[in-house]
Amino acid sequence: MALRAVEEYKASLRDGRTVYVAGQRVDDVTTHPILSITTEHCGNIYRLALDPEWQDLFTGRSPDTGEVVNRHFLLPSTPQELALRGRMIEEHTRQGNSTLNLTKSVSGDALMGLTVVCHAMDPALGTRYSERVAAFLRHVRERDLSVALAQTDVKGDRRLRPHEQPDPDAYLRIVDRRADGIVVRGAKAHITSVPVVNELIVLPTRALSANDADYAVAFAIPVATPGLTIICRPTGSVEQSVFDYPVSRRNIETEALTVFDDVLVPWERVFMAGEWQFAGQLATSFATFHRFTAISYKPPIGDLLVGAAVMIAEANGTAEVAHVREKVVRLIHYTELIRACGKAAAYEATVVPPGIAVPNAVYTNAGKHHFASHFHEACRLVQDIAGGMAITAPCEADLRNPATGHFVAKYLKGAAGTDAVLRLRLFHLIRDLTASDFGGYNYVVTLHGEGSLSAQALATYREYDLERCRDLARRALGSA
Ligand SMILES: Cc1cc2nc3c(=O)[nH]c(=O)nc-3n(C[C@H](O)[C@H](O)[C@H](O)COP(=O)(O)OP(=O)(O)OC[C@H]3O[C@@H](n4cnc5c(N)ncnc54)[C@H](O)[C@@H]3O)c2cc1C
Repeated sequence: MALRAVEEYKASLRDGRTVYVAGQRVDDVTTHPILSITTEHCGNIYRLALDPEWQDLFTGRSPDTGEVVNRHFLLPSTPQELALRGRMIEEHTRQGNSTLNLTKSVSGDALMGLTVVCHAMDPALGTRYSERVAAFLRHVRERDLSVALAQTDVKGDRRLRPHEQPDPDAYLRIVDRRADGIVVRGAKAHITSVPVVNELIVLPTRALSANDADYAVAFAIPVATPGLTIICRPTGSVEQSVFDYPVSRRNIETEALTVFDDVLVPWERVFMAGEWQFAGQLATSFATFHRFTAISYKPPIGDLLVGAAVMIAEANGTAEVAHVREKVVRLIHYTELIRACGKAAAYEATVVPPGIAVPNAVYTNAGKHHFASHFHEACRLVQDIAGGMAITAPCEADLRNPATGHFVAKYLKGAAGTDAVLRLRLFHLIRDLTASDFGGYNYVVTLHGEGSLSAQALATYREYDLERCRDLARRALGSA
């Protein structure tokens, strides 16, 4: 069996990688106050794959060795397998208190994009990248590795193409080609879970022209590679109690500015080096797979918001009030439309050479755009139902202190028969999800993760069958 225990996963992260948090170099990411939370959260994927209750969903047989492997690295070849992948992503998010966990899914998305695009690029340009991509897929699958994905360049002036930037390193680029590999320089922004994974796949951000050939670069490297520096975002609630911060004290991802300071990438790990003609296709192909992952991981937070809204309404005595019920219904619609897009995207998938089921791009982008453009509103509905205590309630220490605890227990009571402590905990849950440091993170990751709103709008316009609609309009005109 090629499945690692969570302790093996953690041990593999103690490899001398260069990681910084809040200005301090981190010796061991598995024991660091912030990164240990991320490590535990990401470790859930390993726990679930070994749990007899979940093994069917989280594992399958390797096509190479026949061994049991994690399903994230079994590339779906039918709409049904794609739907199963979506269910798996939804389930591990739910089990992680609705916080996304990209340690395997995002690299699966990248490997699907690379497999499809290299299959087209190799015969067109005489390259042999497909073999390398397949070898890397076997490497991560048979060793049960965790892999992050770095696509987003820091991009400097957004109006300028890579070769036009005043600083040529604003997009990651090849600075040297040697007998043993390429040397790359630049930085990728916001890279999720990079401090707590084994490997990193790098892809181009955008379509490129011949002048940008050195920016057309894709590869994979171990995180401990010399020249790679990981500068993590700080996080706010690490000193707080789980009672006060029930999600963010246990379930967070960590993003990092990831700097490539003349990093050597051996040729066998290079998947694109100058083939600018296929950079746009690779960026788009990955984005479609990754947005399918996004619409699969998002329904659990919708469910959690619905649950929190209903429970706090019950605790406040407003559950039967018409406007409250109407707001709960809007939350349900918000969530179920995402879930419906995920199912439609899977079951309307197209199988493309060499046998990968590609999610329907219109449903995928519509689902992603819907959840990103209405998430703030969903949180507002929960805050509206909860009342101001969502941000002003006393904390656990006040409840435990004999001088104040009896006041908290007396004055936090809501509807008759409601447990004051449960009500207090619901306020903290809602604050943590929508109005804390982590709540702010949720707003922005929902908006920008997997690409900004305009990227999904662009993809929808490009992919939609407008001719079908024009035909209908022409018919209507003709019959007048
Ligand atoms: C929490 C989080 C996790 C992430 N994880 C990852 C990850 O693991 N790997 C990864 O590769 N990326 C990751 N991303 C990056 C994400 O895909 C980007 O944030 C997103 O693509 C937007 O890019 P940006 O942040 O540089 O913003 P910008 O590109 O600066 O966008 C800001 C605004 O400017 C607009 N804009 C920008 N350029 C133009 C232009 N030329 N023309 C018109 N409008 C323009 C955008 O549409 C948007 O409205 C993550 C982001 C977040 C927030």
